[in-house]
Amino acid sequence: MTDSTQCPLCNATGGSPFFTDKRREYLRCTYCALVFVPSSFHLSVVKERAEYDKHENAVEDPGYRRFLSRLLVPLNEAIAPASSGLDFGCGPGPALAQMLREGGHSMAIYDPFYAPDTAVLQHSYDFVTATEVVEHMHKPGDDLSRLWSMLRPGGTLAVMTKLVLGAAAFTTWHYKNDPTHVCFFSRETWQWWADQNTAEMKFEGADVILLRK
Ligand SMILES: [Zn+2]
Repeated sequence: MTDSTQCPLCNATGGSPFFTDKRREYLRCTYCALVFVPSSFHLSVVKERAEYDKHENAVEDPGYRRFLSRLLVPLNEAIAPASSGLDFGCGPGPALAQMLREGGHSMAIYDPFYAPDTAVLQHSYDFVTATEVVEHMHKPGDDLSRLWSMLRPGGTLAVMTKLVLGAAAFTTWHYKNDPTHVCFFSRETWQWWADQNTAEMKFEGADVILLRK
């Protein structure tokens, strides 16, 4: 059985209490600073799926496209024309993949619930995107390593997730209230991850992280 204080990113044990609300506990890892919800508070797969089914991210919705452009614009500057990419965790409406295709890139998509073709995970890519995905990962250490291994040398991993800004801000942070959000990264955590993987890292705006292999 796994120690519930074990960090799902760096595997260190002894995560310390960070916050508790009426539904869940949150621990913070001493080594990589990841804030995480112990697995005993995770939703069942059925309940998790039901939460995702509520999200309607329509491919043509202009508001959603604007939201995604926060990642798309800096990513486009980092990758060559006609690159090949994977959108990991695309959700029910693969809008980002569609936007990247419109920009001349070839795209594969993967989502454990909505596009579960694992064959696409056997290929190599020039870039991998994960927008609003890492906060859902039960095993972010394994999952991020897997995404990183799919990148060709010089490739880019583009992540969008809201960042922890400190203990005080966390107490009123709406992002933690989504029951499917179980991992919360900070700049410090990404710095740790980039160092571990000798990635060249760049923060873009408040919630986009570009990691170059
Ligand atoms: Zn850790």
